[in-house]
Amino acid sequence: MKPEEQPRYFAVEVTTDTYLIGCESGDHSGDWGRSLDYGSPTGNSWLIKGRDKAILIDSAAPTEGVRAFAERVANLPVMLVLSHAHPDHIYRLKEFDEFWIHPADEGLLRGQYGFPAYPDIPKTVHYLEEGDVLDIGNGHKLEVHHVPGHTDGSILLLDPMKKSLFSSDTIARRLLYGLGEWVPLDRFIQDLRRIRLLDFDYLYSCHDRPAISKKFIDYMIESLKELPNVDKTVSILGMEFLHLVRGNELEEAYFDFVVPLRKREECIDSLAKV
Ligand SMILES: [Zn+2]
Repeated sequence: MKPEEQPRYFAVEVTTDTYLIGCESGDHSGDWGRSLDYGSPTGNSWLIKGRDKAILIDSAAPTEGVRAFAERVANLPVMLVLSHAHPDHIYRLKEFDEFWIHPADEGLLRGQYGFPAYPDIPKTVHYLEEGDVLDIGNGHKLEVHHVPGHTDGSILLLDPMKKSLFSSDTIARRLLYGLGEWVPLDRFIQDLRRIRLLDFDYLYSCHDRPAISKKFIDYMIESLKELPNVDKTVSILGMEFLHLVRGNELEEAYFDFVVPLRKREECIDSLAKV
């Protein structure tokens, strides 16, 4: 694709010093444009500006130049933190000299679980684990929370100063579950409840642009409990998944969950413990 044909980056300040970084025509959804409403999936990165540096969460669009764009918006050096290493979150990883990731997701960059290996991994890798803190200056700190299930090394970042949680694909309206190390659903729900107790008002996920309210976590847990009643399946890349869908995609209360069909009995057993 020639540069002039590529969708262009845009930034929207969603709360003070916190920006949605999107692409003008959503790479996932054709004419999605700049709409901030609920709808079909988008690919979002989030930029959090501190006094000394800024954090970019994920590179979620294939368009070149995300690093330069984010540095221009922040007017500061930008650290790339990967919420996890699925291909749709790491497109422009190669533009960075270094990056931050949970160690359990590094394997995905190298082709673990059948995902394509990333060709140009920056040499300097920094690991982030549960309880780590990223200091971006003047007392502005982001906390790392590890919640496996979507991937082994999925992390969420809490910004206590802005009362925001960057929840990636883990607390999200669409959840692809169980393609890595199996995490029983009762343990996953326990993690969601732990996250629910943290001090934040809004969630920012990677495939929806609006700020999602904290009570969505309750809706998500209630929806997961419906799984034993589901018999709808869907085939993705030649693999069969159990498919739970609740609510309206144009409203916050919507949940679309897929889990490998072969895990159905384990899901039902673990949900009985919730
Ligand atoms: Zn993902």
